[in-house]
Amino acid sequence: MPAWVVKLGLSMAKALVGDDALKKLAGFFTAVILLLLALVLSLPVLVAQIPLVTAERIGSFFNAANQVAETTKTRDDPDGIAIPWDEVAAAWAVLHDQDFSGVSEATARELARQWHERHERVEVHSDGQGHTWTETHVWYTLRTFSEVMSRLGFTGEQKDQARRYLQAFREGGIKPPPGWTARPAMGWAWPLPGYDTAAAVSSGYGLRVHPVTHVPEVHQGLDIAASEGTVVEAAREGTVQETGNDHNLGRYVVIQGGGYETRYGHLSAVTVKTGEKVKEGQPIGRVGNTGLSTGPHLHFEIRFIGHYQNPLQYFL
Ligand SMILES: [Zn+2]
Repeated sequence: MPAWVVKLGLSMAKALVGDDALKKLAGFFTAVILLLLALVLSLPVLVAQIPLVTAERIGSFFNAANQVAETTKTRDDPDGIAIPWDEVAAAWAVLHDQDFSGVSEATARELARQWHERHERVEVHSDGQGHTWTETHVWYTLRTFSEVMSRLGFTGEQKDQARRYLQAFREGGIKPPPGWTARPAMGWAWPLPGYDTAAAVSSGYGLRVHPVTHVPEVHQGLDIAASEGTVVEAAREGTVQETGNDHNLGRYVVIQGGGYETRYGHLSAVTVKTGEKVKEGQPIGRVGNTGLSTGPHLHFEIRFIGHYQNPLQYFL
């Protein structure tokens, strides 16, 4: 664009709205650009920390770790040691650059063996009459995650990455950082007004150990803790596709619109009907403790064209 066009445009704009308003406008656009930049920069960081693994494959790590642990039971140590499946899975994620296609119980077992160290002590006994015999004592000890990673030849950067995966497994999916407050992207509303801080998100999206079944799984939504009866609002506009009562999800609502599907579970009450059109921010039900749940909370899911999304992506 030639400079004179810009000049003319600026002087016209000044004439129309004045210098002050123009500064405000420039400030506004700077803010928008900074916000977009922050979004673009923070999204890959958030996404890179989500291990891309299915519940079934995670089950292989879980079973393999238990199988290896079983082999550490000896006469001298009948309890054996426990092998942390989540460390094995985190190491795999780094070793194979998050390609979990080769995971089976056999391959996971092979890796899991790195966690135990075999010890043997031979005792020579004598009955004092020239009769000697030996007794072999065998027991296993657990290597620390650091020790295993060093044995696997991890670089410092790989160790950090593995620890991030591990943290995600242990903390129940990817939780927002402390100090985070839900800032809805355009077209979105946080489904639980008043419960929009990091502290309210009790379980994030991603791998976790199920709080009731204690089996590892991929948690496909966010859990937001709130008191029973708190009003739940639609996070995005659409049509109520389904309501019902499910063994896991309890009372739930599914809303579809514009390629998006939002799901709300463990409700105590559903206040919309199938086929009803709703806007974002419109009440659809109340927080409850129905289904497989350990306390009043909302299970909130977002799918886009059938694919699960980390809901945090829409509330950075
Ligand atoms: Zn949940």
